[in-house]
Amino acid sequence: MSVSQLARSIVESPTLRLNEEARLLRERGEPVIHLGIGEPKNKAPLPAILSTASKLVTGDIKYSPTDGLPSLKKAIIRYTEEHYDRLPAPENIIISSGAKQSIFNLLYTLLNPQDEVIVLAPYWVSYPEMIKMVYGVPIVVTPEDGSFQPRLAEIEKALGPDTRAIILNSPNNPSGIVYPASFIAEVVELCERKGIWLIMDDIYHKLVFDKSEAAPGYRFTKKDIEATKVIVVNGIAKVYGMTGYRIGWTIASRELTQIMTNIQAQTTSCVSSILQAGAEGALLGLQSVVEALRLQIQNNRDVIMQELQTFRGVKVTKPLGTFYCLPDFRAYSNKSLELSQFLLKKALVVTVPGKEFGLEGHLRLSYAGTVKDVTEGLARMKWALDPESANEIYIGDKKLVRDWL
Ligand code: PMP
Repeated sequence: MSVSQLARSIVESPTLRLNEEARLLRERGEPVIHLGIGEPKNKAPLPAILSTASKLVTGDIKYSPTDGLPSLKKAIIRYTEEHYDRLPAPENIIISSGAKQSIFNLLYTLLNPQDEVIVLAPYWVSYPEMIKMVYGVPIVVTPEDGSFQPRLAEIEKALGPDTRAIILNSPNNPSGIVYPASFIAEVVELCERKGIWLIMDDIYHKLVFDKSEAAPGYRFTKKDIEATKVIVVNGIAKVYGMTGYRIGWTIASRELTQIMTNIQAQTTSCVSSILQAGAEGALLGLQSVVEALRLQIQNNRDVIMQELQTFRGVKVTKPLGTFYCLPDFRAYSNKSLELSQFLLKKALVVTVPGKEFGLEGHLRLSYAGTVKDVTEGLARMKWALDPESANEIYIGDKKLVRDWL
């Protein structure tokens, strides 16, 4: 079939593919445990539900302004003032269908063909593909010391005349690390000095543990939103557990926001006004729901850390945020895709191969589900991998005997 070479070169989203595989297995009655999932299991917060419903019952469901409903923008201004200590104007904000569309529109706005964007490994799977989709070139910086955080010198080494932007995601999907404030400060300084855009993907910013803080990029620049190179992307998907609402936003200069608005106007027109109303409810409602979610996830983090300690040879950096960790499974296999497929087939546990995030030999495990998912999932993995674990295991009422170790 004749299709564009570029379109053909874009790989399938591995996480969405795994979701689909797990769904099909579950439909067939298989007791799958999903440690690949990128969303918490909570219900949408009540104020979000009520706000969505009251918009819907008006029956007045029309196009909203392309850059978003003024009332949602007001809520975002409040949120930004509270969490970033900056007061954006409505013209600095554009609301999109999830942070994913925000990032795509932003890359489309910033890049000329062959422009380079620095991505730090391990990285969110979609960054390199989105950069390629706008004819840019992803430049992956992998920490040489085997940690999850490159040093500034490593980033500086990767800069060239075509570098247009750096993307930072802290807390980080997939590693769960939170970059230290000093590192964010260095990168902001570097970007402002060199005139490089800094895209701060803050989608997990409030899901942090042990009193750590995801330092906002704005803190390290004296320039205002019109002049700074710092651009902020955020949304309600993770922090409120409202992934299905598909609401994200970008905060940038008026000029950039206007160009992004033109792009959105020609592609999707606007985000559904029903869902924008829901997002407004979440942002203006009681924020204790976020704290409750954060505490539950922190508890799950503690449980998964404890379980991982019992695997022989598995090394893991304790996550300080998100709901992921990225243990090093090279003691069992260097090929994360094969390992992940093996675990799905033998133990019915979904994991995501580290290869997809630019870090082979690791598996991304999500602890966004229940404690039971975490403990049972890890017990099954241990049974499948560790010759010293029990030879038999019950999955549901099925007794499985390990015959491959
Ligand atoms: N950035 C990162 C790092 C993510 O993990 C995700 C979702 N998996 C997104 C952006 C996209 O968020 P949204 O659902 O709002 O599009």
